Parts: sequence; structure tokens; C-alpha cells
Amino acid sequence: MKIYNTLTRQKEDFKPIKENEVGIYSCGPTVYSSPHIGNMYAYVCWDVLTRTFKYLGYKVNNVINITDVGHLISDADSGEDKMEKGSKREGLTVWEIAKKYENEFLENLKELNIELPWKMPRATDHIQEQIEIIKKIEANGFTYRTSDGIYFDTSKFADYGKFANLNLEKIREGMRVEVNEEKKNPSDFALWKFSPTNEKRQMEWESPWRMGFPGWHIECTAMSTKYLGETFDIHTGGEDHISVHHTNEIAQSFAAFGHNTAHYWMHNAFITFKGEKISKSSGGLYTIFDLKEMGFDPMAFRYMVLSSHYRKGMEFSLENLKVAERALNKLRGLKPTPNPSLDRAGSYSVNLEYKNEFEEKISDDLAMPEVLALVWKVVKSDLTLEEKWATILDFDKVLGLDLDSAKQNFIIPEEIIELNNKRIVFRKEKNYEEADELRKKINSLGYLVEDSENQCKIRPIK
Ligand SMILES: [Zn+2]
Repeated sequence: MKIYNTLTRQKEDFKPIKENEVGIYSCGPTVYSSPHIGNMYAYVCWDVLTRTFKYLGYKVNNVINITDVGHLISDADSGEDKMEKGSKREGLTVWEIAKKYENEFLENLKELNIELPWKMPRATDHIQEQIEIIKKIEANGFTYRTSDGIYFDTSKFADYGKFANLNLEKIREGMRVEVNEEKKNPSDFALWKFSPTNEKRQMEWESPWRMGFPGWHIECTAMSTKYLGETFDIHTGGEDHISVHHTNEIAQSFAAFGHNTAHYWMHNAFITFKGEKISKSSGGLYTIFDLKEMGFDPMAFRYMVLSSHYRKGMEFSLENLKVAERALNKLRGLKPTPNPSLDRAGSYSVNLEYKNEFEEKISDDLAMPEVLALVWKVVKSDLTLEEKWATILDFDKVLGLDLDSAKQNFIIPEEIIELNNKRIVFRKEKNYEEADELRKKINSLGYLVEDSENQCKIRPIK
């Protein structure tokens, strides 16, 4: 297995710490709002990573954390607390917000057929572990106190910024005005923030320093090492984590343990929408449930992710999603009708030549676009339909498209999907008359639509 390691900026042979075992820590969601498809892209990519290791015979211990405290609007310790922001927006307590969006995240994993990780620890359940590591960092002389918290002194770590090739001078020049004047260096970051003296925070804990809450970065150092050990195999995250979050994690682990924790650091690129990273300004903030409401199958989104390489990201559009759905349905359509006399003879065999080619490609830093090309090569090959299907189902252990389930063996024509999209728009505008007209039209073309609270299903009238 070869993976691209951000630490060395090159593809390397993967050497596990324990034979046939791999420990993977993936930075998880901050549970303060609905995850959009841009957020979920990463988790599909890392699901492919863990499935690949399992396919290759490894025991996989993977951890995805739940950030439910301490992540401020700016990654650099300024601005509002994201959880508090969610709480104000919805009139719920931060605890209720955390529960609500953690559940939503879990539903997203299910919709995208992402396997549940081995562990899914919450930051708020690991306050003591975070305090213990801060104490170590403090004892080793890497901290200082300001009026609002305990900070990490990045000038004490000579290699600070090396991981991200950061130009510290540039960072200093680029710092905005709102800079905390008590910080010794602009890149210093909070390990523990004090609660304000004049108000009670919804989330706060006693500590050796003062009542307060942990900074965002320390949770990942605390939870990754708790579950995977002081050194473990792989740490993953979005490429936006390189310059601040992971740079700070590396600094913390050096200060606490004297070494880096992870041997390999992997980073995914982003989904873009109209050429820009998905965001409020660029648009494209669809959730999986929005796509479902438009009549798309979440597995079509998964297929689309597989058609991209995790280090390149992908351009999202509903048009591209339709193309992906068509391809996915074509694959599903290959499923041979059961033949009782053949079935009794045992299962069909996987074509070993293609299987070897498959293993080569997944082991090459997850070359998924090439893997999909191979899938279509199998489809077009002169194998029997049964052999093709057996081979592709074997690949599906990594692809995770759940091809064998009989979820949807029919293909919804595009015309119907478009009519239904228009119908949903009318419904949203509360123009029920027009919406109903379209429903009748869809019925007359042989399809039924069923609306429920947050989704809409289309199926042929039998
Ligand atoms: Zn993290």
C-alpha cells in the first residue's frame, strides 16, 4: 500500500506499526449545523481508506471524533464559539444542539453507506484527558498565561510551521487587527480558555487554571493518543487543517511527548461548486437530504465521490450528479436474475486477473477514478454476466455502493426527475395547486411520488 504523506510531501510505502493492523484518526465534524455535501466528501474518502485496508487484510482501528466544544468561528481562537452560535440560532441549549447534529451526522453516514468507525469519542467526554495533556505541555515549559487563557508558545517549538511550509513572517504581516495583544506570537493558540468572569457559559469545567473550556486543537491530541497510543499510523483531515489545526496538533504532541504522533498524515481536497470551495458565498451547500428531496439516491453522490481522487477534490453540480446516478443505475442493472440451477452449484467466481488489477489501483494511494474505469472495463469484458457481477461485488467491498441490495432496481427517467424537482420548488413556495398538477402528470407517466418529512421517493406504478 502506498499513500501520499503530507509530512514528507511524497507517496510512501505504508509500514504499519503493528503487523496487519492500522490505527487511523480522522478529524470529525463540529456538531453545530447540518453537514453539507462538502463536509461529507471527506468521510466518504476516509471510508474508502478504511475499507481498502480491510480488503487488504488489515485489522482497522479507526476513530472519528465529535467536536462539541471549543471550536471558535476562526480556527485561530477568535470569534464566537460555534456551538454557542448554533444554540442562539435555534433557541436550544448547546447540549441539545450537539445531540441534534451528532445524530444528523450519523444519519448522513448511514445514507452514504459509510461504515461506523471503531470509536467515535466526543470532546466533552474527554475534558480530563485534555487537561492532563495541557498539564504535560505546561510542565515541559511550552505555555504561558494571559487574561483569557493558557496559551501555547509556538516560538518554543523550533519546527513550528515546518509541516505546512508556513512562512511565519507572512503570517505575522497577514494577521488582522483583532489580534489578541497578549499573545507573544501571532501563531500562538489557546490550550485552555477561561470562562468570562461576568457570565456563565453553558459548557464550562473546573481546571487547575480556572473555570473554562479547552481550545479546539487539544481534543484531537488527547483523543487520538488515548485510543490509538502515543504513536499511531495515520491521521487524516481536510487540507484546510494543514496550516493551523494539524500544525498545532504536531506542536502539542512534540511538547507533550517529545515526538509527532502519527507516522502518515493524509489530507483530502475539497468539493468545489462553480469552481469555488462550497461556501455561503459560492453556494452548493446542499445536504444529502436536500439531494434526496430532489429525487436523487445518496449512493449517486457516493459514486460521484469515487470518480474523483481524494487529493484533487471534485466539481459538484446537479448535472454531474445525474451522470453519476445514471452510471450507478447501469451497474445495478447488471445484477443477474437468480438462476436456481446455477445457484445450487455455488457462488460465481471472481475474476482473479481483474482482482489483481483492482488491488494494485486501490493500493496506489486510493486511485479511485482508475478503479471506476476498471469496473467499466469488467462490464465491457467478455466474462459471463455472472462472473462480471461476482467480480464487481467483490470490488464493492471497497466502493461501498451497496450494489447487491435490491434498494432500487429501476431507473427513474430524467424527465420524471425534472418534473419532480419543479414540483418540489412549487411545494416550497406553497404553490400546492401547481405542485399537484405536476404530481398528476408524473402519475400519468407511470410513476408515484411519496413525500415524507425530509425526503421524497419516486417509484414506478407497478
Ligand atoms: Zn482534529
